[in-house]
This record gives sequence, structure tokens and C-alpha cells, in this order.
Amino acid sequence: MAEFGLIERIRARAAHPRDDVVLGIGDDAALLQPPPGMQLVVAMDTLNDGVHFPHGTEAARVGWKALAVNLSDLAAMGAEPAWCTLSLSLPDGDPAWVDGFLDGFLALAGEHRVALVGGDTTRGPLSISVTVLGFVDPGRALRRDGARVGDQVWVSGSLGAAAAALEQWRAGGARDAALGERLDRPRPRVALGRALGGVASACIDVSDGLLADLGHVCAASAVGVLLDIDALPGADRLRRWFGGEAVRTLQVAGGDDYELCFTVPAGADAIARAAAGAAATGVEVTRVGTVVAGQGVQAVDRDGRPWRPERPGHEHFA
Ligand code: ADP
Ligand code: MG
Repeated sequence: MAEFGLIERIRARAAHPRDDVVLGIGDDAALLQPPPGMQLVVAMDTLNDGVHFPHGTEAARVGWKALAVNLSDLAAMGAEPAWCTLSLSLPDGDPAWVDGFLDGFLALAGEHRVALVGGDTTRGPLSISVTVLGFVDPGRALRRDGARVGDQVWVSGSLGAAAAALEQWRAGGARDAALGERLDRPRPRVALGRALGGVASACIDVSDGLLADLGHVCAASAVGVLLDIDALPGADRLRRWFGGEAVRTLQVAGGDDYELCFTVPAGADAIARAAAGAAATGVEVTRVGTVVAGQGVQAVDRDGRPWRPERPGHEHFA
């Protein structure tokens, strides 16, 4: 199908209820009306066929994930998502693939009231780039550079499920449906991120593995973290399928978790507010460590012995 037919297909399905979209798909650019006094938060992520998802992945899963990874970045900033744009590079203009992609993409967009307001459609290797835009109150954005010595380190949800599901998929044997769901349909922690605004001292979303991502917080904040490797949430489910060391490695280096890792000042008040915020959004949070003077993440087991992973987190060009 030709480019304009595909764009028309996308436009026809991208109807949305937002009145802050003055002009959406169809002109040379979109016209958007941000709320007065708010800061604009912008994030972009690309998914490449065979790199970020296995070749042949169902189109709807790719669509869901393309938006989810971007919403996860806004969540990590404590922002309220509003709009997005979509660049599609397609090897052939297969309308069925685009329809499937939109099924996943627009389902998640609808859940978060995000309007698709524009994009680009080209021929090339299968690749999807999404830009999301959202708002945050001035001064309330969650950044990587605010962690202080003595703060507590927390993570949302569970870690390692997506990586475990990928491992099972690669092995070609039995697969755990609950783990597979975490790989196929990550749930960006948007409500939790917003609840942590003004409470958490630093925040990052866990996409490349906890060790790597927490390492970014350490570097930006010029601190170290003592990580309690045996406190990580979600280990029980993984132990049904994997041995102890493999479980630990999946949890800290697996990637694709899309949970939030955040630091909270140690005072009872801040911790109570963070816990209340999490409870109100229905997401479990678990304390997994402490911010200390120094550099980088030091993992220790339940006996206080240093622990090192068999492999580091995911990194392109590594
Ligand atoms: P131009 O040549 O002016 O860049 P395009 O033909 O690329 O225009 O796009 C026409 C309209 O369709 C624009 O409003 C653009 O934002 C929108 N659009 C193109 N591709 C997509 C897409 N994949 N998703 C959403 N909107 C798209
Ligand atoms: Mg264009």
C-alpha cells in the first residue's frame, strides 16, 4: 500500500478525546496547546527489528512496546503524558501489519489518554521511533541527579520477568504465561511516577537492567549504592524455572523490566509519602538498598557478602 493510504489508515484510527490538540495528523505539523505554567517533558525511543524485538514478533506486541518504552521514560520523570508522534520505517507497506501495530499502540495510548498527533512513514528496514510529550509542574520532575547519601533505594513491581520470558522463548521449551505477559505487555508506571513527584529524590526507569540503570543514578548523583541482591522483588516466580544464580542475574542484568527505581530521603515522612503514593496507584514497591558515599552499585547478598553478576546489563555497541 502507498504511503498516503497508510497515513490515512493511521489518521482514521487515531481519533482522541483531547481538546489540547489544536491540529493533529494531516497538516505539515501538529499544533498543541500545553497547559499554562507547566514544563514540557519530551522523550524518544526507537525499536529496531531483530535488535529490540525478535524478528517476526506479532505486530500488536511491537506497537504496544513502542509506546510503552516511551511512556516509561515519562513515568521516570514524574510526568503526565499527553501527546506522541510515530515514525514508521516499513520494509513493505503491509496494511495488515500496520493495523496490527496500531491495535497494540492505540490500546496503550487509550489507557493513558495519549493522542497520536503526527509522524512520518517511510520505506526501509523495520524500525519504529516514537516521541512522547507530557507535562510536569516546574521543579517537580524526577531526575537522576538528586540521590543523597543515606537515602533509601526502592523499586516498583518485580524484576527479571521479561528477561526470563525471553530466555524461555529462546530455549523453545515450556513457557510461563505470567512472565510472557511482562515481556509482551510492559505496563509503564506512569501513575506511580506522578505520585513520586516532590517525594522521591531521584528516579530512573529500569530498561537495561537494574545494575546498569541504578549505575546511571549513582554517576549523575555522585554517590554509591549498596544493593541487597536477595531483596529484589519477583524472585519467587523466577525460581520455579531458574537456579539461584540465574535468577539473580536475570533480575539485575536482564532488562526490559520498565519498573521505576527511585530514592527516598530516609526520614519517616518522605518514606510514608512514597509508600502512600505507591499504594494509591496499586503498584507494590520494595526497598532494595541504601545510597552510600562512593561510586557505583555494590551488590551484597543476605549475608553481606559482595556479589557480582555473570554478565553486565544490556548496552548497544558494547
Ligand atoms: P510532510 O511531507 O509534510 O512531512 P507527510 O506526508 O510525511 O507530510 O505526513 C502527512 C501527515 O501525516 C502529517 O501530519 C504527519 O504528521 C502525518 N503522519 C505521517 N506518518 C505518520 C505516522 N506514521 N503516524 C502518525 N502520523 C503520521
Ligand atoms: Mg513527513
